Amino acid sequence: GTLTVGELAAKLHKDSSEIIKKLMFLGVMATKNEQLSKETIELLGEEFGVEVEEEVYVDELDIEHYVEEDDDKEEHLQERPPVVTIMGHVDHGKTTLLDSIRHTKVTEGEAGGITQHIGAYQVEENGKKITFLDTPGHAAFTTMRARGAQVTDITILVVAADDGVMPQTVEAINHAKAAEVPIIVAVNKMDKENANPDRVMQELSEHNLLPEAWGGDTIFVNVSAVKNEGIDELLEMILLVAEVEELKANPDKRGRGTVVEAELDKGRGPVATLLVQSGTMKVGDPIVVGNTFGRIRAMVNDVGRRVKTAGPSTPVEITGLNDVPQAGDQFVIFEDEKKARQIGEARGVRARDEERSQTNKVSLDDLFDQIQQGEMKEINIIVKADVQGSAEALRGSLEKIEVEGAKINIIHTGVGAIAESDIILAAASNAIVIGFNVRPDVNAKRTAEVENVDVRLHRVIYDAIEEIEAALKGMLDPEY
Ligand code: GDP
Repeated sequence: GTLTVGELAAKLHKDSSEIIKKLMFLGVMATKNEQLSKETIELLGEEFGVEVEEEVYVDELDIEHYVEEDDDKEEHLQERPPVVTIMGHVDHGKTTLLDSIRHTKVTEGEAGGITQHIGAYQVEENGKKITFLDTPGHAAFTTMRARGAQVTDITILVVAADDGVMPQTVEAINHAKAAEVPIIVAVNKMDKENANPDRVMQELSEHNLLPEAWGGDTIFVNVSAVKNEGIDELLEMILLVAEVEELKANPDKRGRGTVVEAELDKGRGPVATLLVQSGTMKVGDPIVVGNTFGRIRAMVNDVGRRVKTAGPSTPVEITGLNDVPQAGDQFVIFEDEKKARQIGEARGVRARDEERSQTNKVSLDDLFDQIQQGEMKEINIIVKADVQGSAEALRGSLEKIEVEGAKINIIHTGVGAIAESDIILAAASNAIVIGFNVRPDVNAKRTAEVENVDVRLHRVIYDAIEEIEAALKGMLDPEY
């Protein structure tokens, strides 16, 4: 495997621009994504005073690479607590329910402990633990999932009995279903005079959440978060679902998991709440967290106690990182501190590099400039349309466009609204998205903004063609 300029830069802990400059000096013109030959890599190594000894592979920076092999045979697996997220419409009582669960339960086992907000907490019911992520709502849930982290085992869908199913209720259902996470419905505000749990059941049935009482398999629990009523039953139902799901992990290996939240603390430096998903981590362990690294200096649990180890499904707040990671980042415990530092540093360099190039995402407005500068030879396009016929017609016409110095590449066509997955594909392949008689859905819209993906919507095929042609020729109307 050879490397691109960007990848080599990361390995050498340099900036891509430094490599590119050095290459120019050597008479080689290269862009960041250019594959370098072995000879060139060796030459550059010499220039930077680094010996290139062995073949270097890019996936060395992939954190998965360092996860201790799962010889997770049945005999190594142990039951682990379920990880629960609370979702639902605004004001239906998510926060109140989280507080209620915590306060009715936490005092029993952990008397004297001071409740500390670390982004997740554990309670005990009938001698079994349950982990709650205490950032309510599906924003956190989705952010994590978008970053490849699936931490939630069970979703509690809170629906106010006096209000019924609302838009964000439906959104939450869709998110949970997309992630294939089982849903338990908590019908909240049962203390209210106008509480109407039947209506909630009725409305949720229309979204395929059919209560057991009506022959379905969705568990409904009536609760009042303000009166602390129904909490035990809710927790018992969580344990029931957890049992069915057979949640297990091997605690006897190096820990790995996901960042729940992280921030810079004035006194303590970067602090991060980590949720262990398998294995165990200990104070003193070398660790790589997302694009940061360090050695675990201290671990504090959700009642503010210092702990020395943390196993599967346990959330702890750690200190000792060199920088602040992001929620949803993966972490892996390393055996060797030097290796952790090396990988962590290289990941950090690569991330900063990528961030810089993010702003250079292709957009129709600067397409012409990029072609002129020879930076863009192929224009990647994703086509979404309302019907297959239009998608094909548009593809055909786009592929016929001929502009010197540029080639059009249709990397994906599809039918239906522009989805987040289309945007992610576009971002990853530096593509423009054209929607023909379709629009981006909410998630696609948001992701397109974050990822800087250019989305163009049209109702007339000719307009779409003309726009691309104009862009290629540097004649795009800036008022568009
Ligand atoms: P969130 O936006 O879903 O987190 O909702 P909150 O937990 O902030 O609750 C919104 C409002 O509903 C607050 O005024 C709560 O006091 C109230 N609330 C929450 N749960 C209950 C309940 O069980 N009964 C009643 N009567 N009010 C509740």
